[in-house]
Amino acid sequence: MVNAISRTELKELVGEVLSRLSSCSGRDGAGDGRLGVYSRMEDAIDAAHADQKRYVDQISIAARREMIQAIREVSLEQNETLAKMAVEETGLGRWQDKMEKNRAVILGTPGTEVLTTHAQSGDSGLMIEEYTPYGVIGAITPTTNPAATIINNAISMLAAGNAVVFNVHPSAKRTCAYTVHILNNAIRGACGLENLLTMVKEPTMDTANTLMESEKVRILVGTGGMGLVKALLSSGKKCIGAGAGNPPVVVDETADIALAAKEIYKGASFDNNVLCLAEKSVFVVESAADRLIRGLIDAGAYLLKDAELKKITDLVLTKDETGFHPSKNWVGRDAGKMLQSVGVPAGDVRLLVLETDFDNPFVQVEQLMPVLPVVRCRDVDQAIQLAVKTEGGRRHTASIFSRNIDNMTRFARLADTTIFVKNASTLASVGVGGEGSATMTIAGPTGEGLTDARSFARRRRCTLCDGGFKIY
Ligand code: NAD
Repeated sequence: MVNAISRTELKELVGEVLSRLSSCSGRDGAGDGRLGVYSRMEDAIDAAHADQKRYVDQISIAARREMIQAIREVSLEQNETLAKMAVEETGLGRWQDKMEKNRAVILGTPGTEVLTTHAQSGDSGLMIEEYTPYGVIGAITPTTNPAATIINNAISMLAAGNAVVFNVHPSAKRTCAYTVHILNNAIRGACGLENLLTMVKEPTMDTANTLMESEKVRILVGTGGMGLVKALLSSGKKCIGAGAGNPPVVVDETADIALAAKEIYKGASFDNNVLCLAEKSVFVVESAADRLIRGLIDAGAYLLKDAELKKITDLVLTKDETGFHPSKNWVGRDAGKMLQSVGVPAGDVRLLVLETDFDNPFVQVEQLMPVLPVVRCRDVDQAIQLAVKTEGGRRHTASIFSRNIDNMTRFARLADTTIFVKNASTLASVGVGGEGSATMTIAGPTGEGLTDARSFARRRRCTLCDGGFKIY
């Protein structure tokens, strides 16, 4: 169990870390980077480019494994600091949950072991196919999982032999700089290189464009909203785009309702619902709706009354000619603070639930906050139909609570999502309470899915013909 920490203690701790960071970070001026943090994007790219060549020429696969182990160790040691820094700097989420999220990627991101060689032999000789590096990867990262995405991308991309230049979200630049520092320090200890991960201290759209346009950058990886993915897709380079989700949950009449309530509460309240894969709306059949809502309240959720819902909507959503949007001031904020702001006394409430219909803006937008709409449906067919509509072709995540295999299969096929979870929180899909590896970059739009080292490697073939290296 992690102890509670006051806001003052948190500020002091983060202040100390930031002063340590500024004393060890790059000096101002061009070519100033130390341990990967640069003032100019061009210098960050050049440094990563030079170290990537040394990496593939001089560092053995065994040393690569040791380096990845060193990354895991330092990230675990610094986990609490990284989690608290992220919350302090971005204002998003809960540091205890960020620790769990970081821990999942630190331990669950696969390394070099997934890069297996494929061989085929026959009358005509032998063929092998290997996973090989692209070179320098340009990676753009979100504000919602700052340290977790850097650690996850670093392990996957370095395992495949690449170097990485990050353009991080400006609202998380200090947390990301600190993460890049400690990882590069660990990498230097393991193999002597200190620029396999680089970034600019002050990321902007200009630095992103420099990264996208650089001839030294072979492939772009973007983790964020659809605007980012579209920008990468129009760059003319190979790109892996991990975009927005709006994951719906279907609950049918055969479901274990107590389990559904417990798991939906867990996923929708985790880190104040900033995860792209977190449950954003629930479609429940009429006959199970009352029990599900009761279960959510029993788990700790607060059911909004009509008048409160109106006030919360006005508080946390904004509206323009294109429709509703989550207010930047309230994305990832605590549910208890929302309640207090509309005059409802609240303790440690982690999730607000509203009963509503399909047209409610909380169903339509990717709200990224702990406010969960529940829609009653006349039957499972309607629930599936509305859930598919809400997911909106993003091909991200959907889930169902059911014991009916036909319902599960039908929804999985119609949803056509990268992640489909049955009878658990969607967190289970990235190894938190479920089988499988962890990732913070889920590439639905470009199809790589849950990324690992293989996603960031080129497949190359070597063929030996007649009299090739066969043993029979
Ligand atoms: P965001 O799109 O605002 O920013 C993400 C990153 O992209 C930032 O570094 C930002 O500076 C950059 N960016 C944005 N538009 C850009 C453009 N046109 N050109 C270049 N860079 C650009 O997203 P956010 O608020 O940081 O993160 C939340 C969003 O990311 C949500 O929509 C969430 O679903 C999504 N997300 C997806 C995944 C996934 O694996 N699919 C993981 C985490 C977050």
